Amino acid sequence: MPGTVKIDVEWCGICGSDLHEFEADTVSGYSPPVILGHEFAGTVSAVGDGVDHVRVGQRVAIEPFMYCQTCEFCITGDYHVCRDLSVVGVHNVGGGFAEQALVPAYTVHAMPDSVPFDIGALVEPITVGWHGMRKGNFGAGQTALVIGAGPIGLTTLLCAQAFDSAFTAVSVRRPGARADAAGRLGADAVIDSSSTDVVEAIMEMTKGRGVDVVFETSGAPEAMTTAVGAVRMGCTIVSLAVWLAPAPCDYMQVLLKELTIVGSKGYNKPDFPEAIAAIGDGRIRGAQEIITTRIGLDEVISGGFEVLADDRSSHVKILVSP
Ligand SMILES: [Zn+2]
Ligand SMILES: [Zn+2]
Repeated sequence: MPGTVKIDVEWCGICGSDLHEFEADTVSGYSPPVILGHEFAGTVSAVGDGVDHVRVGQRVAIEPFMYCQTCEFCITGDYHVCRDLSVVGVHNVGGGFAEQALVPAYTVHAMPDSVPFDIGALVEPITVGWHGMRKGNFGAGQTALVIGAGPIGLTTLLCAQAFDSAFTAVSVRRPGARADAAGRLGADAVIDSSSTDVVEAIMEMTKGRGVDVVFETSGAPEAMTTAVGAVRMGCTIVSLAVWLAPAPCDYMQVLLKELTIVGSKGYNKPDFPEAIAAIGDGRIRGAQEIITTRIGLDEVISGGFEVLADDRSSHVKILVSP
């Protein structure tokens, strides 16, 4: 088909938003049948007419956003806020929980040989963290608190390290696989909010200043209160979480500390190429620690969705191979 690429899927990750779709409190508003899976990598097996940026046999990762390509946002590369945004593996184009996927060519990014396919399946969640760095103007020598140690919390930690953070703490709601992964990935501190006051701990670690940027990835009801308390005067909170309900935030503190709160939605034009390059040249390293389980496609329900739905804290990222 013109303008499309067929992919032999190698690995596809199960995302929290797949679980929302599966559990039917759907975020997309789109109903079955749909082939889920928007975090995948594989090999190009066919290209349609007019496709010249990838060739058959090439290793690729998919940037699953689909958009109109003509509106005021799309033409500047801000397609992530296109009014016609839809997502491969969520909406009307089947995703990576399949042997093959047929996707628009513009969603396909070549990967260097140094990026294995399993890490290729993490490019999408890593890129979410990468976009968060850009939205927070995060830079070398700065300090950060990442709230939440789910897949996006952990990829955000990796990106903060790749941006040469001086100090990155991760707060978790309970001990478990996710907290352990944050430690293995080299977080400077892992703060268990079930037993420790996160704001007090951050103030102690930063000599009372607070961190330069808080990356909120948990969507937990108390998270913005923690973020506002832990961030330094005049600094920034980046909101990356999928919030399923409005959360309280002390706007008097936002005023008194003159904070900036910025949303970070997915990724836009620079992010996929930059994140793939950073994985390829080793600035982002250790991402395999995020993969806690690997299963076959025939186990995707029993060994994947149901396992995660039962107990997210015992797993981070489950990868599926057809
Ligand atoms: Zn996702
Ligand atoms: Zn558009």
